Amino acid sequence: MQLSLENAQLLDKEDSLNRFRKEFYIKPNSIYMDGNSLGLLSKRAERTLLECLNDWKEHGIDGWTKGKHPWFFLSEKLGDMMAPIVGSSANEVIVTGSTTVNLHQLLATFYKPEGKRTKILADELTFPSDIFAIQSQLRIHGFDPDTHLVRVKSKDGRFLEEEDIIEAMTEDIALIILPTVLYRSGQILDMKRLTMEANKRGILIGFDGCHSIGAIPHSFSEWGVDFAYWCNYKYLNGGPGSVGGLYVNSKHFGTVPGLSGWFGSKKEKQFDMEHTLTAADTAGAYQIGTPHILSLAPLLGALEIVTEAGLENIRAKSLQINQYLMDLINQDLHDFGFTIGNPQDDIRRGGHVSLEHKEAARICKALKENGVIPDFRAPNIIRLAPVALYTSYTEVWEVVQILKKIMTEKLYEKFKNEREVVA
Ligand SMILES: *Cc1c(COP(=O)(O)O)cnc(C)c1O
Repeated sequence: MQLSLENAQLLDKEDSLNRFRKEFYIKPNSIYMDGNSLGLLSKRAERTLLECLNDWKEHGIDGWTKGKHPWFFLSEKLGDMMAPIVGSSANEVIVTGSTTVNLHQLLATFYKPEGKRTKILADELTFPSDIFAIQSQLRIHGFDPDTHLVRVKSKDGRFLEEEDIIEAMTEDIALIILPTVLYRSGQILDMKRLTMEANKRGILIGFDGCHSIGAIPHSFSEWGVDFAYWCNYKYLNGGPGSVGGLYVNSKHFGTVPGLSGWFGSKKEKQFDMEHTLTAADTAGAYQIGTPHILSLAPLLGALEIVTEAGLENIRAKSLQINQYLMDLINQDLHDFGFTIGNPQDDIRRGGHVSLEHKEAARICKALKENGVIPDFRAPNIIRLAPVALYTSYTEVWEVVQILKKIMTEKLYEKFKNEREVVA
């Protein structure tokens, strides 16, 4: 079937999540395809941020326990709201820190080299910040990252094979850190299988959920995942620098936090001001200091939307609209040297399309000049993320028509093929 504008409009009409689109601030004459890097502001997120500001205005210090959203309990409350998103019980999630800081906390807590088991297993396609955190934690323990950080190789620079990862789970590995979804290619790793294999060998396993949280469902508890961490500013639309998330399986409750601070206290003990930490018997134990309230506040509204929309519905639309984008690319862009670099199977692909082209950096600049916001990942990837909550099929259709025009008329040639400071 030939795909057309009419057919995009029909898909929009049938889209059960269409009603959420008007809740977001969408710039006129601009198509936002970068929700996998920074999700858009919704009216509800704006409202809850303003409510927290107002609590400060009205209550001063008493805002910790009074007002619309008492700050003292906000990290726990947001943890409760996030639990269904990661598939855990409420007390296994806390909204705290940032991705990288939470990884430091979890490594400081759970990386316990012993006897032969001293190495950390990761992969060569992982996000740099995760690698930096692992390297520094190894150094703190007196190990050389060159020998003690093992990185599973990718055969094609895009994907990882679960078989290869399992083969690397040798008896010198103490702990494994992997992404849920790879940030470049959008590949979903089989978390259930990897966790089972790690558990079987007595190796702890933790996941970086930045590229899957809010895009795909998870069952961290059921799978037996030991811990996980993620940011809330991508598919969850929590805002720039939004406070991150941390999950710890209840079987590890009571493990002394590697990086302790008074916000890890049992809530009722915190203000006793003793010099002995009575840690919370929940994931809350792994908090450190005072939470960044104004960076938590938008999440209250943002998560309300996700809860209302339903993660299963979000995933269903995400799969459909990404498939639609790939179908259009195959139909209209086959003559221009593009390669679709994400997995094709539904069970293996996350929330974005990874379009490869040797002129990717300057094609991205031409897209921006023509009203489309993509993002670029060196050396040759254009990431396009149609987001279930606010992207329409008509927009996806338009993006591909704009890309076709850019390629046909070679509009990218006036730009340099180099990335910007923030790509
Ligand atoms: C976005 C992202 C991060 C960012 O980490 P911050 O500490 O929030 O800056 C880390 N890891 C992955 C896989 C990401 O996609």
